[in-house]
Amino acid sequence: MVLKIFNTMGMKKEDFIPLREGEVRIYACGPTVYDFIHIGNARAFVVADTIRRYLEHRGFKVFFISNITDIDDKMIKRSQETGLSIQQLGEIFSDAYFEDIAALNIKKPDVSPRATQHIPEMIEVIRKLMEAGYAYQVDGDVYFDVSRFEDYGKLSGNKTEALEMGARIEVNPKKRNPADFALWKARKEGEPGWHSPWGEGRPGWHIECSTMAMKYLGETFDIHMGGKDLIFPHHENEIAQAEALTGKTFARYWIHNEWLTVEGQKMSKSLGNFITVKDALKICSPQVLRFFLISAHYRSPIDFNRESLKLAEANLERINSAMERLQGLRERANRTSEEENLLSEVRDARSKFEEAMDDDFNTPLAIAAIFNAVKAINSYADKNAEIEALTKREVYETVKDLMGILGINIETRREEYAEEKTTIINELINLIIDVRQEMRRRKEWKISDEIRERLQKIGLTIEDSPQGTRWKLKKIQDLNKFSKHF
Ligand SMILES: [Zn+2]
Repeated sequence: MVLKIFNTMGMKKEDFIPLREGEVRIYACGPTVYDFIHIGNARAFVVADTIRRYLEHRGFKVFFISNITDIDDKMIKRSQETGLSIQQLGEIFSDAYFEDIAALNIKKPDVSPRATQHIPEMIEVIRKLMEAGYAYQVDGDVYFDVSRFEDYGKLSGNKTEALEMGARIEVNPKKRNPADFALWKARKEGEPGWHSPWGEGRPGWHIECSTMAMKYLGETFDIHMGGKDLIFPHHENEIAQAEALTGKTFARYWIHNEWLTVEGQKMSKSLGNFITVKDALKICSPQVLRFFLISAHYRSPIDFNRESLKLAEANLERINSAMERLQGLRERANRTSEEENLLSEVRDARSKFEEAMDDDFNTPLAIAAIFNAVKAINSYADKNAEIEALTKREVYETVKDLMGILGINIETRREEYAEEKTTIINELINLIIDVRQEMRRRKEWKISDEIRERLQKIGLTIEDSPQGTRWKLKKIQDLNKFSKHF
């Protein structure tokens, strides 16, 4: 089966054929680190991560870049409001960003380039655009001349004529066309600035992404991702800058996720419904938040509210408890027709999952396939107390694997217990050894020898030496966690 991706460029599903066989190069717009990331950002990052994980599952070697915007208008405004330097803000909120994505089980990008560390490269791109006649300078600002780039508007459908007609509110008299946008902004009083051929200033937001994408992924790469709100002007402008410079296609597939609303309304600071990931994690676990975010197809809107979170939580619990039931089944050596049926249902669920994900990453259908497996597990466990060992393992591993592609780890209480049990056993052994040590100190040789012999019988060897007592499990050599010195 071929993987199909809905390409915003052209607005239709296309077969996905990477530029280099077996390799996928992705750029996903990252956060502006002036505040904590909100759940709308989280949706974009979780969608990108799920797509990345699925491509990896399909055997592609994925190279994933997501930038950190640490200089732009928002950074400057927040710095002036808080009295923190731009650098301090950047450090605080990029740390918070990495913390949040780790909580959501989002894999770290292969590179997270920071805008402020790529200023010379950006200046070079702007210089070349000016040389080629695509940009002009006015009083230390540099603008991109959209009228010079014929394809302007090909991603968003916003053609320059329409923009000009609708741009009566535009008040910047320095621009030749109202739709022109800044590549470089002259430094204003109280703002940070870098040296450039046009005087002190800073790059525009759009040139940051074009430059860093091309630096790490080449002039043409496979997939560019981001929220729908970035299509215009951000991505339109990224294309104009990059393609004017190289004459080549910039990104081959454009993937954009839909809006996330909060109780039916667009999230905004003025409405007071602005929810950060940290806020959300006060009312639900990161697993539930992630499961909620992928429960809708990425091209459908999704609404964050108590009911939808509750539903995500209940659904996740259903999967985990079926896995727990499966683990609780006693193992036997022979396979019956019951196992054959279960296996065929679960294998079918795997192919349905893959079919759904191959069809433009249809996560709700993929989750429905997992529920088919859950249903089969439950009906097996309703009728049987035992299961053939290999079947049990295959069923368990399949569900675990499919959930892992969605970035969700299976959590069963049994697994928690297993860890607790290990700790308890470890502590019990320590306790017995301590008691025996005390007996030896009191020269109660009879009791201390008896303890050693009885431990020996259950496979635990004790060696006394002048340095103290060592113990090891004779039967299970690989349980390294048990070998401890006293
Ligand atoms: Zn970007």
